[in-house]
Amino acid sequence: MIRPAPAIAAIPPTTPFIGPEQLMREHGLDALVRLGANESAFGPSPRALEAMRAELERLSWYGDPESYELRTALARKHGCGIEQLVVGSGIDELMGLVVRAFMAPGAAALTTRGSYPTFNYHVVGYGGRLVYASYRDDGRLDLDGLVAVARAERPAVVYLANPDNPSGTFVARGELERFLDALPDDALVLLDEAYADFVDAAALIDPRIDDRIIRTRTFSKAYGLAGARIGYAIASAENVATLQKIRLHYGVNRNAQVGALASLADEAFHTHVVREVEAARRAYYALASELGLQALESFTNFVCIDLGSADRATRVMNELLARGVWIRKPGAPPLDRYIRVSAGTAPMREAFAAALRAVLDEVSA
Ligand SMILES: *Cc1c(COP(=O)(O)O)cnc(C)c1O
Repeated sequence: MIRPAPAIAAIPPTTPFIGPEQLMREHGLDALVRLGANESAFGPSPRALEAMRAELERLSWYGDPESYELRTALARKHGCGIEQLVVGSGIDELMGLVVRAFMAPGAAALTTRGSYPTFNYHVVGYGGRLVYASYRDDGRLDLDGLVAVARAERPAVVYLANPDNPSGTFVARGELERFLDALPDDALVLLDEAYADFVDAAALIDPRIDDRIIRTRTFSKAYGLAGARIGYAIASAENVATLQKIRLHYGVNRNAQVGALASLADEAFHTHVVREVEAARRAYYALASELGLQALESFTNFVCIDLGSADRATRVMNELLARGVWIRKPGAPPLDRYIRVSAGTAPMREAFAAALRAVLDEVSA
């Protein structure tokens, strides 16, 4: 009998995500207010769309496997060399490359229990072993806890999303630098900055190139190109060369490269999206307070709202879905009593607010 490798056989079939399209099919819904995946509700830049439309004519050609023009523009943006940049089909792909490249089978990887699950999915898929710290009770990352586990378990890779998903919280640069210095020297830090666009650049750590840190960024959130699948990592030239060895050479399609390049040039649109997201966060804080609920302060394009218990949060999420409003919720304590809602346009927020009001009356505390 043919069997998959044990590490693969052990992966549950739905990890890490059930997509909204599948949920719609399962629930017989023909429309959905999409507030569950932190996609941009504000679309891609019109300039990106124009460039991508024009590029479609050349779809019979492979894209530039070096993403040379995009990396050149990114090098200018980040003040680094193009040999310190690697482009992938989203952070999700780059994460897998980092795990595969830097973790020997059976090695440990450290993350926060309940944080972004795709990292875990890759660790399990490549035969690694996950070790965890928990979130603090206030929903923030427990940096001291992570350091303690790192010292005990000597992980090959330490994962930290900053700003974090699903909490939305942010570790400012001084605190983050102390954390990086306190980790064992032989740990590679995968610093996932998917939401960096939503915080003041001065609050992020300096654009230093460090052998022990791989920073990832994406065009999926503020740039509104989630469906195009494109992101990048900033790393030492040596680490980039390692990732280049195993990267799928034509994995980043030419349309995505062109769209990302045009997006970078459209600063006015980027600023517009960041402002809209701020307005959405404020609207969610106001809604929570009106309903007598607590929200976590967010530095991202989503907000977590406390429903008091994991059971209530799950029931509210399911009832919202039945009403055509798709959100998600964190899966592990202490954040599992929250629901997480992505920044929407005003009509999307109103649909969420109306459904939440109706559901809260039914789903008792
Ligand atoms: C959305 C998200 C990603 C995925 O980014 P892609 O570039 O779309 O793969 C990665 N990390 C975090 C923390 C995210 O929230």
